[in-house]
Amino acid sequence: MQIKDLLKIQYTPQEIAEKRAEIRRLLISGSSNINSGEINRIAVSDLELLFEYYDAAFFKGYFRKYFPGKLRFSLSTQMTRNAGKTNYLRNLPGLRPEQEDYEIRIGVNFFFNYNKLQRNKAVNGIITKDALEALQLVFEHELVHLIELHCCRKSSCRKERFKTLAKQLFGHLDRYHHLPTEKEIAASRYGFKSGDWVCFSHGGRKQTGIIYRINKRATVMVPDGEGIFQDQQGQKYSKWYVPITALEKI
Ligand SMILES: [Zn+2]
Repeated sequence: MQIKDLLKIQYTPQEIAEKRAEIRRLLISGSSNINSGEINRIAVSDLELLFEYYDAAFFKGYFRKYFPGKLRFSLSTQMTRNAGKTNYLRNLPGLRPEQEDYEIRIGVNFFFNYNKLQRNKAVNGIITKDALEALQLVFEHELVHLIELHCCRKSSCRKERFKTLAKQLFGHLDRYHHLPTEKEIAASRYGFKSGDWVCFSHGGRKQTGIIYRINKRATVMVPDGEGIFQDQQGQKYSKWYVPITALEKI
């Protein structure tokens, strides 16, 4: 197996399903954090294991045998939209293979929160059955970025080459995940959405305003003659960040 062959690997849907299921079994038995399809704990070492299994099953051990560069994994609790990300050292002209340097980062909250909403949760166009399957699919997407970067020095999941590779290697049908976001969980749990009028108390005073945005906390715009924010009608507001549990609907 040579570097140019990575772009040609192709598996049937059945082979992909079998390899993915085998990697799941291996991870559950090899990890001290993940022991079922649910994910409540995860460590960088789990991503290292996952990579080792994917390399063996899908890339015929290419990375273990031939990849001379650096490859690291990390976990983030700050990612609110993307569930995975591949960072790399910009490809300077004359970069030698041993100088290649990649980092695959996984946004862990998407997997911890997997069961917080009951609905279909597709990743890359495939309906997942649990958090572990979702993690595998997100990881696979990042592996396609890694292969493209390693072979072609450029990668974009919006482009044809990526889509073709993701399809032939992993059977991915699109590049999005529909995993619950903090915003969606908050909105569904408490029934709040942007544009709702709400009140909350602060220092014994009741404040009334409109929800502008919901993340972990809600951004509430409170009509305020002294406020520095102004809408198109000239109404002034002050901006407040309020825990969702402290809001009341009006
Ligand atoms: Zn991507």
